[in-house]
Amino acid sequence: MISGIYPEEKKLVLDNYTISQFRACPRKLYHRTIERLIPGATDMWSQEEVVEPPIPDYLLWGIAHHKGQDQLWMSGNLQEAQNAFEEAFDPIPESSHYTVERGRNLIEAYANRWSFELNNLDTVQCEIKFQTNLGTIEHFPAKSDNFGRHVAEKWTLDVGGVIDKLYTRTDNTDHFYLCDHKTSSWESESLLPTQKLSNQFGGYVYGTQQILKKLDSNASCESLEADILYLNARSSTPKFYRVEVNFNEEKLNEWKAGILQTGRMILDCFYNEVWPMYGKEPCAAWNKTCEFFGICDASIAYRDTVKTANYIESAWDIDKR
Ligand code: SF4
Repeated sequence: MISGIYPEEKKLVLDNYTISQFRACPRKLYHRTIERLIPGATDMWSQEEVVEPPIPDYLLWGIAHHKGQDQLWMSGNLQEAQNAFEEAFDPIPESSHYTVERGRNLIEAYANRWSFELNNLDTVQCEIKFQTNLGTIEHFPAKSDNFGRHVAEKWTLDVGGVIDKLYTRTDNTDHFYLCDHKTSSWESESLLPTQKLSNQFGGYVYGTQQILKKLDSNASCESLEADILYLNARSSTPKFYRVEVNFNEEKLNEWKAGILQTGRMILDCFYNEVWPMYGKEPCAAWNKTCEFFGICDASIAYRDTVKTANYIESAWDIDKR
C-alpha cells in the first residue's frame, strides 16, 4: 500500500504517517507523499545509483527489539525472543550504547515485567496489514462546467496501516484486543493520558472491526493497549507502562469524521496546488530539523537543484515495512 492521491481512480489512500505529516505541515506531505522524496544522494557520474542514508543505530536496535517482542508474544519463549532480536540486529553497529547484551537484557526485563499478561495470551497475530474504505468525500472544483455548474466530484478515502498485535486472552476468547508498542525517552505526566487521543489507534480499531466484519465474525474489538517502553540514554533502567485506550461507537465516529475532513483539506491543497508551509514549530519538532528544511529554506528558483542534489525518490510503501 502506497499512501497518496490517485486522481484517475478518484481515490485517497492515507495511513497514520501521512495524516500526521499533513496535520503537522501540508508541505511535508507534498514533499514526502506527492514527490516521494527522502534525504539521499544520486550518484553524480552514473545519475542512476542512489545512496540512501544508513539506518541509524537507535532505529536498527529498535527494529530488532520489536522482532524480539513479536517472538516473545508468539512463542512465550525468552531464549527464542532474544535470538530473534540478535538475528535482526544486523549489521551490529560500533556503538557502546546500542549493544547485543543490552538488547537481550531488555527483552528479559520486558518478559519479567509482563509475565502474567504473556502467560494469559490465547491466540496472537503480529504485524497485521490492512487497507479499508473509510467513506466518500466530495470535492467541488473551482472551475465550472459548460453550464456554469460546480459539480461535485466523489472521491473514496481508504485508510490503512500495520497493527502490531491482535490477540485473544485465555479468559475471553471471543474478544479481540490490540496492542501497539511505543518507545519514549521522555517521561512526563502526559505520556500515558495523551495516548487516549491517538488517531493512529482509532485507525487500528476501525481496521480490525472491518476485518472482523469481512470474516463474518461475532467477535468484538473496541480497545487497544498502548505498550510503552521508557528508555533514557542516561539511565540503564527501563520502565514499562501500559494504558488501555477505548473506542466506543461515538468516539470512533468522531475519529472518522476528523479523518474525512483531513481528506477534504488534502484534496483542496491538491487542486489549488498550494501546500502551506506551517513553519517554524514543525520545522524543529522533537528538537530535530525537518528532513525537508533544506528545500524549504532555499530560494524558490534553487529548490529543484537542492532536490536533485540532496534527495532521492522512495515511495512510502507500508507493505515493505
Ligand atoms: S521544513 Fe518546515 S515548512 Fe518545510 S516541510 Fe518541513 S515543517 Fe514544513
